[in-house]
Amino acid sequence: MSTRPNILFIMTDDHAAQAIGCYGSRINSTPNLDRIGNEGMRFEHCYVTNSICTPSRATILTGTHNHVNRVTTLATHLDNRLPNVAKHLQSGGYQTAIFGKWHLGQGPEHWPTGFDRWCVLPGQGIYHDPRFAEMGEHVVKPGYVTDVITDDCIEWLDHRDDAKPFFLMCHHKAPHRPWDPKPEHRSLYTDPIEIPETFDDDYRNRARAAEAAHMRIARDMTYDDLDLVQLPEAPGANLGWSPHKLVPNPGDDELSNFSLRCRNTGELFTFTSRDELKRFKYQRYLQKYLQCVHSVDENVGRLLDYLDTNGLAENTVVIYTSDQGFYLGEHGWFDKRFIYEESFRMPFLVRYPEIVKPGSVCTEMVSNVDFAQTFLSLAQLPEPNYMQGRSIEPLLRGDTPDDWTDLAYHRYWMNQDDIHNAYAHYGIRTHRYKLIYWYNEDCGEIGANPGTDQPEWELFDLEKDPLELFNVYNDPAYAGAVREMTAKLNAEMLRIGDTPMHPVA
Ligand code: CA
Repeated sequence: MSTRPNILFIMTDDHAAQAIGCYGSRINSTPNLDRIGNEGMRFEHCYVTNSICTPSRATILTGTHNHVNRVTTLATHLDNRLPNVAKHLQSGGYQTAIFGKWHLGQGPEHWPTGFDRWCVLPGQGIYHDPRFAEMGEHVVKPGYVTDVITDDCIEWLDHRDDAKPFFLMCHHKAPHRPWDPKPEHRSLYTDPIEIPETFDDDYRNRARAAEAAHMRIARDMTYDDLDLVQLPEAPGANLGWSPHKLVPNPGDDELSNFSLRCRNTGELFTFTSRDELKRFKYQRYLQKYLQCVHSVDENVGRLLDYLDTNGLAENTVVIYTSDQGFYLGEHGWFDKRFIYEESFRMPFLVRYPEIVKPGSVCTEMVSNVDFAQTFLSLAQLPEPNYMQGRSIEPLLRGDTPDDWTDLAYHRYWMNQDDIHNAYAHYGIRTHRYKLIYWYNEDCGEIGANPGTDQPEWELFDLEKDPLELFNVYNDPAYAGAVREMTAKLNAEMLRIGDTPMHPVA
């Protein structure tokens, strides 16, 4: 049994694939993450079943969709009596540990179970001198959170029983908002950062949700997010970061009496147009986000070096992923939640020299509901019937089973349920198309769209419109595609036991 592989699962929070070198990043470099991709397999089409932190983590741990594990929102926490993959690995002879972000609830009913050792951040955690719950005891660990979590992983590896294989979940907080980089990294990424093609999206030709979302860098990102203080001080403008606060923005005619001061350096910024201010906010946002990613990359390098130094590289499956994607200015947005590509897609890199050809790329559809069964199959343990994914081990070996799925499913349940005002929806993506159903229950009037709570459908032709700017659902030329995709969506919901919001003809 000692030949069973170790599994090192490294997951960050909100790290988009478009900010990883081996995914073709045009905005940063990540040499250590690229090592995993270049020495292993890069998945081009890995998707999240619900693009938000808590539900994604529940799916990864349990191998089930959110309507089954009941962790549908940020406020629905995991019942730790449920079976999970760590429990199966533990009872199957693995040493198990988790360090870092948990975000599945706190207290005796929600703390991690199935782990021999755990030390996790309560809630979101903080970046500097973070507090942890270590086996239920509260401790403060000085230092920068990404370094501290890696230190904990290395210390645990150093003291493990090397007669047994290990399963280690290294869950970073970074690069989650509020972006708070390590002081040593604050001078990085200060050159102008490329602006994405859809930055000035006007949300036309789409369902109402895109216009209604409060995720716009220009309007909804606070100055506090960017270490800025608004001058002259307007009521409510400089209250400090809060996920529940919108920021008042100046009109063009108010800009002559408007400036921003950097809280760290005292530097003063003035603007001649709102467009200039929007681009300035984008640059500051990306700087801070990429500085946080830099520390992740460094610390992944430390773990890879540890495996090399200790003769573990050959027999350890190393995985790098993020709990979902993120908008880095695409559609003018930050944040996540939507089935649109940038937040739906997860980076997913796997190195395991035993079976994975270096530098390989997989274009099959996989999702986070497949992870648990993949761990079990690599550990040569049975895959329980209650799990709803499929092991990707054949794909890692370079073989695609004939009946491999051609789609990925997504459902976001929090209908306008927080400050970002994202509408609930479900849908599927195939290689060619994406079909989305927006329930629009009680969504009221927004912008220029007449108030109606009628549901809406979207279909995107990803071959002709990869940026998802033109909803072709009502275009007669796509009637066949609509029929085919609707049938696939219905079949998938039936297969996984999820309930449609409204009956579909
Ligand atoms: Ca997240």
